[in-house]
Amino acid sequence: MKTWIIRLLISCSAFACSKAPENSFMSENGKVKVLATTAMIDDLVAEIGGEEIDHTCLIVGNLDPHSYELVKGDDEKFFRADLIFYNGLGLEHGASLCEHLEKHPSAIGLGNLLMQEDQKAFLTVDEQLDPHFWMDIELFSRSIPPIVIALSEKDPDRAALYKDRGETLRNKMLEKDRVLLEKIQTIPPEKRYLVASHDAFFYFARKYLAESKEENWAKRFIAPEGLAPDGQMSVRDIQEVSTFLCEHQIPVVFPETNINRDALKKIVAVCREKGLHVKIAPTPLYGDTMGVKGTGADTYLEMIEHNVHTLVDQLSKQ
Ligand SMILES: [Zn+2]
Repeated sequence: MKTWIIRLLISCSAFACSKAPENSFMSENGKVKVLATTAMIDDLVAEIGGEEIDHTCLIVGNLDPHSYELVKGDDEKFFRADLIFYNGLGLEHGASLCEHLEKHPSAIGLGNLLMQEDQKAFLTVDEQLDPHFWMDIELFSRSIPPIVIALSEKDPDRAALYKDRGETLRNKMLEKDRVLLEKIQTIPPEKRYLVASHDAFFYFARKYLAESKEENWAKRFIAPEGLAPDGQMSVRDIQEVSTFLCEHQIPVVFPETNINRDALKKIVAVCREKGLHVKIAPTPLYGDTMGVKGTGADTYLEMIEHNVHTLVDQLSKQ
C-alpha cells in the first residue's frame, strides 16, 4: 500500500513537470535568467538572448510602469534574476520597485547609462527627465550594446552569438526607423500634430512628427496629463490642450490603451463649446505598454508601427 502511494506521488510530480510553463525562468536549468521591467526591454532581450537564456517581464499587459509596485511573486523573480534591465530616467518610480532595483547588484538602468554617453539626446519636461525614450527607435536601439555586453559577461562562451544577434537587431531597427519616418512624413506638416492622454510622445514628436531640423518640434505634441499618468490634472491643462486643438484645427485626439479617457472627453466637450468638432480616435495608441499576443502590436517594432499607422490613418484624412 505504502509503495503504491509513493509511486502515485512520483508519477504526479512527473506530470506536474511536464506541464511546467513554457518560460522556465523560475527553474534551475543553468541558463542565464534575465528580468526586464517593461515589455519593450524584454523584447530586445528576447531577440538578443534567444533560446540560450530565460527571460521574463515584470510589468505586463496594461499595467502602468510609472507607478508599478511589487506584487506577490515579484520578490522571487528578483531573487532568481542574474541580470535585470530597467528603463531608468525615473520611469519606475513605485517605491517598492525602486528599492529593489537600487539594491540588486546586477540591475542596469538602460536610459541612465545611455544618457551618460549622450546627454543631449535625452529630454526633460517641466524640469523632469522624460523616460519615454523607446518612442524613438534609433535612440532605443542604443540599448542593444549594453544588453549584449552584460549577457556576454554572464555567458562568455556565447559572446559572439549575442554580438551577431545584437547587430542584426540594430540593423532591423534602423531600417524600420527609416521606413516609419518616411511613412509618417506623408502627413502634410500642417496636419502633423498629436494630442494624446499623457506626456509620452515628446521623443516621438521630435523624431517623427517634426520637419527636418525644426526648432519648435515640441509644439507638435501636447497632452492633458504629465509625464506620469498618475499625476494631477488641472482645468488649466484641459484649457491649454483645447486651445492647441483650436489653434491648429486638429479634429482628432488619441486615447492610450491603458489610460482612462475622462480627460480627453472633457477636452472634446470644451472644443465643441468653442465650435471645433473633435473626435476621439477609434484606435488607441500604445504609450507606456505593448499589445498582448494576437493584437499585432506584441513586439516592440510592431507596437511603434501600430502607432504610426494609426496616426497616418487618422491625421491624413482630415
Ligand atoms: Zn508614461
